[in-house]
Amino acid sequence: MATKKEATQPTNAVNSNNAAATNGNQGMFAAVLSRLDMAFSKLNPSYNFQQIIKNPQKQVIVSLPVMMDNGKIEVFQGYRVIHSMALGPSKGGIRYAMDVDMDEVKALAAWMTFKCAIANLPYGGAKGGIQCDPRKLSVGELERLTRAYTSAMADVFGVNKDIPAPDMGTGKREMAWIVDTFSKIRGEDIPGVVTGKPLTLGGSKGREAATGRGVMISCLEAMKKIGMNKKTATCAVQGFGNVGSNAARLIAAQGIKVLGIGDHTAAFYNPKGIDIDAALKYVKENGGILKGFTGGDLVSNEELLLSDVDILVPAAVQNVITEDIAKNMKARLVVEGANGPTVAAADPILYEREITVVPDILANGGGVTVSYFEWVQNKSGHYWSEDEVNAKHDASMSTAFEHVWFNSKQYKTNLRTGAYITALKKLEQAVEYRGNY
Ligand code: GLU
Repeated sequence: MATKKEATQPTNAVNSNNAAATNGNQGMFAAVLSRLDMAFSKLNPSYNFQQIIKNPQKQVIVSLPVMMDNGKIEVFQGYRVIHSMALGPSKGGIRYAMDVDMDEVKALAAWMTFKCAIANLPYGGAKGGIQCDPRKLSVGELERLTRAYTSAMADVFGVNKDIPAPDMGTGKREMAWIVDTFSKIRGEDIPGVVTGKPLTLGGSKGREAATGRGVMISCLEAMKKIGMNKKTATCAVQGFGNVGSNAARLIAAQGIKVLGIGDHTAAFYNPKGIDIDAALKYVKENGGILKGFTGGDLVSNEELLLSDVDILVPAAVQNVITEDIAKNMKARLVVEGANGPTVAAADPILYEREITVVPDILANGGGVTVSYFEWVQNKSGHYWSEDEVNAKHDASMSTAFEHVWFNSKQYKTNLRTGAYITALKKLEQAVEYRGNY
């Protein structure tokens, strides 16, 4: 049996959010708050709304005892943060990584609230995670861990309550275990309780590639605005997991030359362009990693970020675009596939250097947009074609981009603050209509 601590924020909890960082992710939630402050200073929303949106609605920590293959029990820490339900049931992925902690999950949950608002989805924001190294666990151990987490969160999750999805270190396999465990606990089939499922269990066509597809659409929209030509533009993509590999493939399919790619094992640069299909094939046959790929010169991770390209797509982990990288970057356009790839202190440097940054909460919203389509299909029992999903997704991403662009111009600020403003305007209205209860 999992044990559980559940806590809702006390009413005077404003200062409790200056989260002490317990690992390498120095104050991720503090970075969210500093970006919020920037948007507050432009938008000037009501004091009451500011207090509400700065504090996550609910934070849950569970201890998950899992029987390991060696016959010993190991206890993992699992988290779920519901940041806001102002716009609807909370939505957000589940991350398996060693650096998962409450501070990180709180930041990721808040970003989901803003992401869903910008994408105009009827969802609030949440995020979950388990502190573990999924690469070191067997499939059996991962399954027992995922089922233990689902069972511990059985009264947190719900089709109209809180709907998880994949994030870093998880995918359709884990989502299948979640829907199976949850449905068995409830004694009925409830496919809409989780999105990013395999197609045979009620998944949506187009969901797997959706985040990468949204990155591609955001990239094209930004290029149109800043007058960057598809025929001559070059790009580097950091991260070759679900988001990075699909973004690289779809950006290359637009005729934009991808000169650099990389993952946690290796990075490559080829001035003539990397053959993305060859890289995808290599990764598929090489245990999911790029190490040993021969389609480009081996470069360091930093060299990849600083490489001579027009567009940089950070699609791996948070906090990679540091102040130093921002000062020396050659790219003129950054499209954030990852959540939180740019440290807050790098924002003004990039703005000063007139580098356009399409922020995560806009650029990677394609995933949750198609998650929403999956949930709608599960509720109605009627399933759409891939073309239908993609067309709806592309239109929704383009509209979201326009709103953010408009607000950034109207408030004379960068796209990141423009994105926060877009989200906050909507959230403030919802919070006001709901009133205080
Ligand atoms: N984990 C993804 C994200 O950060 C997807 C969330 C979802 O589909 O609910 O946007």
